Parts: sequence; structure tokens; C-alpha cells
Amino acid sequence: MTAILDSPSSILVPTASLREIIEYMQERQLETELIHRGEGAAPQASPLTTPIYETTTFLFESAAEVRQFAEGKSDKFLYSRYGNPTVAAVESKLAALERAEAAIVFSSGNAATACTVMALAQAGDEVLCSAAVYGGTFHLLKDLLAQFGITIRFITLEELNDAQTSISDRTRALWFETPTNPTLRCVDIRAVAAACRARGIISVLDNTFASPINQQPLTLGVDLVMHSATKYLNGHSDVTAGAVAGPREIVDKVNRVRRMLGPMLDPAAAYALGRGIKTLAVRVERQNANALALARALEKDKRVQAVHYPGLESHPDHAVAKAQMSGFGGMVCIDVGSLERAEQCFDRLQVFQRAASLGGVESLCSLPVLTSHWGYTEEALARAGVTPGMMRFSVGLENVNDLIADLQQALS
Ligand SMILES: *Cc1c(COP(=O)(O)O)cnc(C)c1O
Repeated sequence: MTAILDSPSSILVPTASLREIIEYMQERQLETELIHRGEGAAPQASPLTTPIYETTTFLFESAAEVRQFAEGKSDKFLYSRYGNPTVAAVESKLAALERAEAAIVFSSGNAATACTVMALAQAGDEVLCSAAVYGGTFHLLKDLLAQFGITIRFITLEELNDAQTSISDRTRALWFETPTNPTLRCVDIRAVAAACRARGIISVLDNTFASPINQQPLTLGVDLVMHSATKYLNGHSDVTAGAVAGPREIVDKVNRVRRMLGPMLDPAAAYALGRGIKTLAVRVERQNANALALARALEKDKRVQAVHYPGLESHPDHAVAKAQMSGFGGMVCIDVGSLERAEQCFDRLQVFQRAASLGGVESLCSLPVLTSHWGYTEEALARAGVTPGMMRFSVGLENVNDLIADLQQALS
């Protein structure tokens, strides 16, 4: 054995006594202090908000404590891929929001979808999926998860409304959305959930478009709720995140996959998401009001062929929406007749920003045939109820008169 330190002290030679070594350790050297001094929890601080626990790993006091953890008898944190206090704080908010026993978050909505489907189905099983789902969900299921032997069967809204007939002995789960993108058709959640329950399969609802302020699927009988937290939950267009909420038993199964695959939400992103969620209720309330006012103004405009908004009496699913939503959301879709005309109006927008995504404080506009429904054949578009002249709006928190004026000048 050589000296523990070559410099500056020369006392720690192999002949040093234990007493000398302990004495030496009373005063640590600079390099050691730089690493360890001031780290860890501050016992004298009681922060109002949950700090960002920017740490990959957590300390244990003793082997006994580690053993307790290994035996599942400890609720301590071990490693941030398994759990982190900042992430757990936002998860508890989400569980409360969705009236769920448990909720977990992910690094994106698609990560939440992938982990959920992998937890609910294995090779040989079938998953039913509404054809009217987010494009990213459609491709994840059809192009990736199908590679692992899971059969994905897409069903129309008509088939979804009569779900029992589509469920087979191999079906393990049914995935759907309401309101749908971009036509904002609404599916009777209670009916779909009951059909799934009757056949013993798990129903999963992507609740991104409605937000938990307007729609609480678990209270309507759905087994599991999924979110792209990138949208309304965060609400400021600056965090990519996903979430799943439901009974602990199912969420634990999804969490098992999340722990292995590792699409955890970073603590800094979890902090930002938690901050965004604090204002979700007031944001969504204003977005609901702005969207309804905008939809009503557009409905009176002769230059607009159709206005799709579940809050309008003219919407084909208004009754369904009223029976299951407490607000009709911030998404509005209109048809201005042709793609050429839609592009013209799109290019003239001044307050609405030309961008994909939704749910932020900023009002955004996208053209479905150039984005979510790009590459669809005319027949596939017709089946999805999407027309070339559609413009989709995510209504933000700007003054509603500025938004209405912007669309009026864009349409002129
Ligand atoms: C955006 C979105 C997703 C995917 O979420 P990411 O956070 O982009 O991964 C899933 N479903 C819906 C309805 C979405 O709008």
C-alpha cells in the first residue's frame, strides 16, 4: 500500500496509526470539500414549492436501510429512473386531477402510449384502436408495436359506438379519443367503457383534447386515462411530457414497463409541468369561453362553410358532449371550402400562429390535410370526415376580440 495522499501531507504512510488517520480526516482536503460540502437536503428549509431534485441517485444511511428497500419495505427513493420527488409531486397532482388512485408521467405522450400498450398486451393479443386517433398513436401502434406480435385493429367511429361486436377473445384493450382530431366528434364514453367492462377488456382514453378540467373519463367508467401533457396540462408550449392515470393495479403494470424502458420525465421538466398544471383550471376555463365565442362568431360568417365545435347546438354530437363534458374545450375547426382558400387564410393570420400542437396559452392554427392527415387518399380523408378546406384552431388566452378580428381579416 502506498500513501493515501502524496501531497500536501506526508503523514498518511502505511505506518500511520488509526488515531492519526482519524485525526487527519477531521479536516478534509479542498478536492473532497468541493464535491461533498453543502450537498443534499437542507433540513432547516421548508420550501413552499417542491424543489427540482436534480439528482440521479439517493443516499442510504446503512446496509440495513438498503436491505429494507430491497425487501420492498421502504418508501425511500433509490434511483431517478425508478422515481424522483419532483416527478412524484406532479404525479400526485395528476392523480387528483383525473380522480385516479395513481398517475405516472413520461418523457412524452407517445412514451406513455407505448408503455401502456406494452403493459396491457403481448404477442398474440389484439388491441382495438379507434381510427380517429392522433397520428403519432396510429403509427406507433401500426408500424412499431405490431412488429412485436401485437395485432392492432383500427375501428371506425360507428364500430366504436357498438364496441362489443368488435371485441374478440384475443382483445385485451381498446384505445380511443374524444373529442377527435380535427372534426371534434364526440364518442359516448360511458357506452364504450361499459362495453369493454362487459367483455373484461381494458378501455383506455386519450384525454388530451378535453383536458381533465372538461372531462373525467375515470368517473364515466373508463379504466385508464392517457395524456400528452405537452398540450393543455403543461399549457405553455415548452415541455414535452406524457401521463397515464387510473387504478393503482393497472398503473403499476404500466410503471413496470416504464422502469425498464426508461422514458422518465426529467426532474426539471417535471417541475415546469407541475408549475403549468397549477393554472390549468383557470386557463381551460378561459380557453373554453374564447373558443365558444369564436365558434359562435364564425358560425354567423357566410365565408365559412362549416364550424365544428362540440359546444355549438349545430354540432352532431352536441348532446353526447353535454352529457359527459363540463366544458367544450379550446379546439375549433372550420371549413373554408378548399385547400387553396385555407392556405390563403392561413398565410394571412397575424395573431394566430402557424404551428402544430395545441393547448398552450398561444392561439395556433394548423391545416389538417398538410399535417395530421398528410398523405391520406381522398377516400381515407372522407372516412375520417376531413375536408381539404379545414383549418384547425387551438384557442389560447389572448383577448377574444383580437382573435375574432384576426380571423375576420384573414377570411376577407
Ligand atoms: C400530441 C398528442 C399525442 C402525443 O403526445 P407527445 O407528447 O407529442 O408525444 C397523443 N395524443 C394526442 C391527442 C396528442 O395531441
